[in-house]
This record gives sequence, structure tokens and C-alpha cells, in this order.
Amino acid sequence: MKKYFVGVLVVAATTTAAFGQSKKSNSNKDGAVSSINKHQTELTSISDKIWTYAETALRESKSSTELADYAEAQGFKVKRGVSSMPTAFVAEFGSGKPVIGIIGEFDALPGISQKAQPTKEPQQVGAPGHGCGHNLFGAGSLGAAVAIKELIASGKLKGTIRFYGTPAEESVGGKIYMTRDGLFNDLDVCLDWHPDSEIAASTQSSQAMVDFIVEFNGKAAHAAFDPWEGRSAVDGAEAFTHGVNLLREHVKPSVRMHYAIKAGGDVPNVVPEYAKVWMWIRDSKRSVVDEVFARVKDIARGAALIAGVDYKVTIQTGDFEQLVNRTGAEALQKNVEALGPIAYTAEEITFAKKIQEAQNLEPTGLDGTIHPLKQTKEDPDGGSTDVGDVSWNVPEISLLVTTAPKKAAWHGWAVVACGGMSIGHKGLLFAAKALAMTMVDLFENEQLRKDVRAEFEKRKGNTIYKAYIPDGPPPVPAN
Ligand SMILES: [Zn+2]
Repeated sequence: MKKYFVGVLVVAATTTAAFGQSKKSNSNKDGAVSSINKHQTELTSISDKIWTYAETALRESKSSTELADYAEAQGFKVKRGVSSMPTAFVAEFGSGKPVIGIIGEFDALPGISQKAQPTKEPQQVGAPGHGCGHNLFGAGSLGAAVAIKELIASGKLKGTIRFYGTPAEESVGGKIYMTRDGLFNDLDVCLDWHPDSEIAASTQSSQAMVDFIVEFNGKAAHAAFDPWEGRSAVDGAEAFTHGVNLLREHVKPSVRMHYAIKAGGDVPNVVPEYAKVWMWIRDSKRSVVDEVFARVKDIARGAALIAGVDYKVTIQTGDFEQLVNRTGAEALQKNVEALGPIAYTAEEITFAKKIQEAQNLEPTGLDGTIHPLKQTKEDPDGGSTDVGDVSWNVPEISLLVTTAPKKAAWHGWAVVACGGMSIGHKGLLFAAKALAMTMVDLFENEQLRKDVRAEFEKRKGNTIYKAYIPDGPPPVPAN
């Protein structure tokens, strides 16, 4: 990994130069950028450690500690184990208004362990890996928060900076519990970023979704001697999935329904008494997810009647779609453009092309250019995030930064590989700078905060935010 480190220094120099050349110089933005340059070795090494730990949802104890300890060492007041999740934390510095928040994630995905090399080879077969770049996400956001902290400490900015260590984005949705507990409520604005294959302020929403389990309980019997005494839970599950598949014709094209059969009997000669289906419903609007979910619950009831079995539907989690904030995105985009494109070394481009070739993709390399702000699509591309829930409680500004080549399969080995070397590091440092510069704008410019808030209120309308998660603590694993 060391041989790529030179590249990180190169980009730091490039971006500082690019920023220095921008017409309207802002000394606090210069200060933020040089803070990130000063801390870059620490930030990339935190990211690399989290990449190596590769801890999955709510088991991210070393990763969370890495970030929280660094925040504490930098002078933040850190509250650990918030919202009954041992790996969730809030780090704060400063006092009074405005209060600007920034989110950092750090959970990995199971089964996609990979070395930081351009050909597929796990570090450890079957182990988790950072296939969504959350190691970069957490460290980059914390770098931005530290830069703002230094400006507050030196009296150049007034107010409070708060970093949120948000676990379990990939399954449980740590932010949903933190939102339910009101941890974001007093923020003026919140920011986040996500690793991507392009650079731009994000102007797209995400999909709302509900994640639930349908269980059927029947009665076991000998499948040949007295099957009439039995009631098959698998019949219930089959009738259910058949009903769901009939429903597909009668939902909007934006709806996605996917399921996995988690339990479906053990042997053919016993009438199965238990069956379990795990299902997600998604749409670009939470309201449509609600409608489809109501119909799917009816299908479960109908399936149970057909099979003469009992049934139970249990919600596990669910995300709201993200409320876009174009006013915030425009402010962020200006800073992204001031930083200018990410320059890659020949080695990095070769690395990216090898990854693309290994996946039979066109070897286009890396896209370090700055993309213009896009029109906000009515129906966003697939995918859900618990940032969506935050965005219904406080204005949210999101950034996308290249950390992997185009079309590299996310949640797969290629993204893990790039996240553990200089391609990922460059994205991390770029994100930290762009977000810190935008936070400088938000601290300094009250009108910007008001405008961002006004758009948030308008988009939110009179929708009352109510998370899908059931009452009670999050499902923290026992070990
Ligand atoms: Zn992700």
C-alpha cells in the first residue's frame, strides 16, 4: 500500500493549488483545506485500519473506537454508545448556534474480503470487506469535522460542529434509531458523502423501503401416512410468494419487491410446520411503499387462509427516501469545482483498468472530473440509505466522490480493493475538503442556512416523519 502513498501527496498539492487559484479566496476555506492536508496521513491510516477490521453491522467496535478516539484526541467531547448501540457515537466541539452536523459510516459487508490489488483474491475467504467504501466515508467526514473544529478553536468560526458515528448502514440502519431518539433535531444542516465512481454534489433521492419477515406456522405430519392431519407452512410461503408475483403486474414501475426464502421445511417426508420469507419492498416514495406493503400483508393473510396455517409479519427496518436539497447541493458544488478534478497517477489508472478488464468491462480507468449538477429525477436509481431518514428531520447535503472505477460492482471485491489503497484515499481527502469548505460557507453565511432550511421545509411539506422501526432497542448482536 505504501507505494501508492506518493499519489495522495500529489493530489493534496494539486487540490490546494487549484483552490489557491480560485478567484474568490476565503481564508477559512484555505484553513480547512490545509488542516486536511496536515492530517492526511492520520486520516488515511484510520481509513486503512477500518478497512482491515472490516466489521459488519453493529459489530464495528474497533472501527468505531478508532474514529471516536481520534475525535477525542482532537479535543471533541465524545458520547459513546448513543441510541443503545455500543458502536454509535456523537463527537462535538464548540458551543451555541449554528450547529452543523456531519455523518460518518464505518460498517463492512459480509463475505467480500479482498486484498488491495486489481485481481480478485480474498484476504481471508468468506470474511467481510468494505464493498461500499464506508471506511473512507467515516474517516473523510471526521477529517472535515476536525478542520472545522480547528477554525472554531482559533476563533475564526462561531458555533458547534458535531460528528455522528453512525453504525450499521448496510442492514439495521443505525441512523434510524439515532433519528428516532432526536439526535439530529437541533442541527441547522447536516452533511454526508458517499464513495462513488463520479464526483458531484448529489441531487438525487434514494429509494424508500421496508424490510420485513413473513413467517408461517403449520402442523407437522407424516407426508404419506396421514398428511391430512398436517398443515404445511411451506404451502403458506408458496401461496404468499405466488401472490406477491401476481401483484407485480399491478404496481408502478418504480416499485421493487424482492424476497429470500429463509426456511422452507427440512425433508420431503414431513409436512413442514415452519416457513420463513424475508422480503423488501422499495419505491421512490415512502407513501407508495406503505400502499404496497398493505397489499402484501393482505397476501400473507390470504396465503395463510389457503394453507390453513398461522402467519406473522414482523418489520425489521425501513428507510425513507432522501429529501434532496438543491440549495445546499449548489453551495457544495461550488466548492467541489473550486477544488478541481482529482489527478490520478499512471499506476492508479492501470490499477483501475485491470479491475475493469477482470470484470469484462471497457477499461476506461478512473473518472476524476467534476460532473455538473444533475436534474433531480422523479424516480431515483435503485438503492436505499438511512441518510434518507435523517433528511426528513434536518436539511441534508450530500456529496459523491470517485473512489472506484466506472461500473465496478459495488458491494463487491473491486470496490473493496480500491478502498484500501490510494484511489480510495484520494476520494477520502477530496470529500473531506469539499465538505469542510461547504461547512465554512454554512457557518459564515446565515442566509445560506435560511435558504437551505426553506427548501427543506417546502419539500417536506406536511408529511409527518414516522420511522418503520418498531419500538424498543436496536437488534444489537450478542457478540
Ligand atoms: Zn454505502
